[in-house]
Amino acid sequence: MGLNYTVIRRPVKYPRVEISPTGEVKLVLPPGVDPEWLIEKKREWIEKKLGEIENARKKFLPFSKMLLLNGEFYEIVKGEEFRVNPKFRVVLLPGNDLRVLKKWLRDQLRGELDFKVRLFSSILGVKYRRVFIRFQRTKWASCSESGNLSFNLMLMALPEELRDYVIIHEVAHLKHLRHSPGFWELVRGYYPKYREAQKKLREYWLALQCNDVWRKFRKI
Ligand SMILES: [Zn+2]
Repeated sequence: MGLNYTVIRRPVKYPRVEISPTGEVKLVLPPGVDPEWLIEKKREWIEKKLGEIENARKKFLPFSKMLLLNGEFYEIVKGEEFRVNPKFRVVLLPGNDLRVLKKWLRDQLRGELDFKVRLFSSILGVKYRRVFIRFQRTKWASCSESGNLSFNLMLMALPEELRDYVIIHEVAHLKHLRHSPGFWELVRGYYPKYREAQKKLREYWLALQCNDVWRKFRKI
């Protein structure tokens, strides 16, 4: 179907197709297996996924110059003093200095995490060590074996209830490090609509890929 893809040869038991949020297709295949065979087999799924990515691009491109914050698009206007106004969905930014805004986002996330990680871990009866805020390229958050939690600054783009899902998900990893059935059972207990949340997270991830403001944050 005139598709560009890269092939990764690995002795896997089950050949698979991976599609990145920007639409790159990667085939993971054991030696000797024809890539076209896998493409044929998964054609319907691949087309569906690429269609979703294309739709998201169309949907979010008109807002690419706006700040995606708490699930809403905010206009950034040059102002005398720094202000974020949720009612008018506007950010007043002195000198268009995005560093001021980035620092504010980090402080907001820090404050929210300080409370929520503490709250959810005491509810789940788990202990954590440190909480980091990073700008991860591939994930919303992660949990290390030693009990450190890392959260992506891009979480600030999400509506609060989706952020809650990510936090609960990571805190649940302090009990079950892997995505085992026990892990999902625990998550479901505190966030029953987790499947829906995962779907929305994928859409937000796509929105962020075509958002200039969030892309610029990466460079400052
Ligand atoms: Zn996980």
